[in-house]
Amino acid sequence: MTLDNSCYGNAAEDQQGQNYDRSFLEENHSYRDMLSTLDTCAKKMGVCWDDYLPLRYPERELTVSIPVEMDDGHIKVFVGYRVQHSSVRGPCKGGIRYAPDVNLDEVRTLAALMTWKCALVNIPYGGAKGAVQCDPGKLSSRELMKITRRYTAMILPLIGPEKDIPAPDVNTNSQIMAWIMDTYSAFQGFTVPEAVTGKPIEIGGSLGREEATGRGVLFTINQIARTKGIDLKKASFAIQGFGKVGRTIAQLLYQEGYRIVAVNDISGGIYKEEGLDIADLSNHVRENPSHLIEGYKAEGISSITNQELLTSEVDILIPAARENQITEDIAKDVKAKIIVEAANGPTTPEGDQILNEKGVVVVPDILSNAGGVVVSYLEWVQNLQALMWEERKVNAFLRKIMEKSFQDVWELQEQKKTTLREAAYMLALERTIKARKIRGTFP
Ligand code: NAD
Repeated sequence: MTLDNSCYGNAAEDQQGQNYDRSFLEENHSYRDMLSTLDTCAKKMGVCWDDYLPLRYPERELTVSIPVEMDDGHIKVFVGYRVQHSSVRGPCKGGIRYAPDVNLDEVRTLAALMTWKCALVNIPYGGAKGAVQCDPGKLSSRELMKITRRYTAMILPLIGPEKDIPAPDVNTNSQIMAWIMDTYSAFQGFTVPEAVTGKPIEIGGSLGREEATGRGVLFTINQIARTKGIDLKKASFAIQGFGKVGRTIAQLLYQEGYRIVAVNDISGGIYKEEGLDIADLSNHVRENPSHLIEGYKAEGISSITNQELLTSEVDILIPAARENQITEDIAKDVKAKIIVEAANGPTTPEGDQILNEKGVVVVPDILSNAGGVVVSYLEWVQNLQALMWEERKVNAFLRKIMEKSFQDVWELQEQKKTTLREAAYMLALERTIKARKIRGTFP
């Protein structure tokens, strides 16, 4: 690693680079926020600007239109994206998100986070992300399938087991991954399970993948508790989001006998000082046609708003919903001592600064929610070898990687006297820059 502050300073004044940066960043607010953290870390590390500059830009982006014949016979056109931020350390890897408000800036940012996450947990992948602007709650299963298949066909030039491997994210699931795998395979003329991860077990999914992100968060919580000397049996938890990730975390914590006092989802939140019955709540959500918390009734629970959940009197807060939830205003009122970021980008830079000033320990997303991509990697490895591992083996591998990554980040933050987020970014950046330097710049 080149330690050259002057090199960074000189190149930062380069006019061409500055102009390119300005127009690019004006349109990309969330990407700009991600870069501000990255730039700070690059400066603190003293990396050479020339080594770092290419990593500030996504490698490749594709916007597609997706015409679909709806159930009523009319044609609707949806917009989709696939962004590959970096393939420096290996094939690109990242989830696909379905949401009505998703945009290219969000997808770019999430693609970059995948680059740093894969580098941090040291798996041989780069970062990517995909999305379709749609509201799955308003679509029939048939319409959802058609959107998924056409989207897959449209991004076909970018994806593939050696190029870019999609996975589930917000509002997508194993069924959607199955449709992607089937569509990709139809174009190849043979079955390619390793083209997608997060698939159903029956067609090459990995045991333990469904719970992997939540399980990784649990390992992270255990690590931070051990390091800070916290007795989790006496701790209280609040979880924002009760989807694939939030619900799994809640169930795993509940199985450990821990007290979850507040949870919510897009339909609203509930609170119970003595602890919620997560098994009962999960049954309700599974059986509720909307798969939401709404309509849940139990003794002693009260309704809370999203703001009340995020600022509730708990020891550990786990945002597991969407980005930009812990803003400056929310951060001022946060009472939790520890925040474990299960969602991607749940804390804004302004919110993060306030939390740091207040002494709240924030375990960053690229560390705490990396369990999903770790087991996606294991699924891909199993598919490539046509093997099926026992769940015990998958979980043991996941645990080893999560514990080692936490340890690495913790030691670096102590050594550099910085935050866990900056230490995580520094480690990821160092590994990615090293790989780029070894490969060299083509041509
Ligand atoms: P999901 O669609 O299964 O669940 C999202 C949950 O958040 C739902 O319960 C939804 O109702 C809730 N929600 C949305 N907006 C909300 C709001 N404003 N207030 C409260 N709740 C709200 O998605 P997921 O896969 O659980 O992903 C959640 C987060 O975790 C995302 O940031 C995602 O990028 C991240 N993540 C997911 C994985 C994975 O393997 N699925 C891996 C790493 C990170």
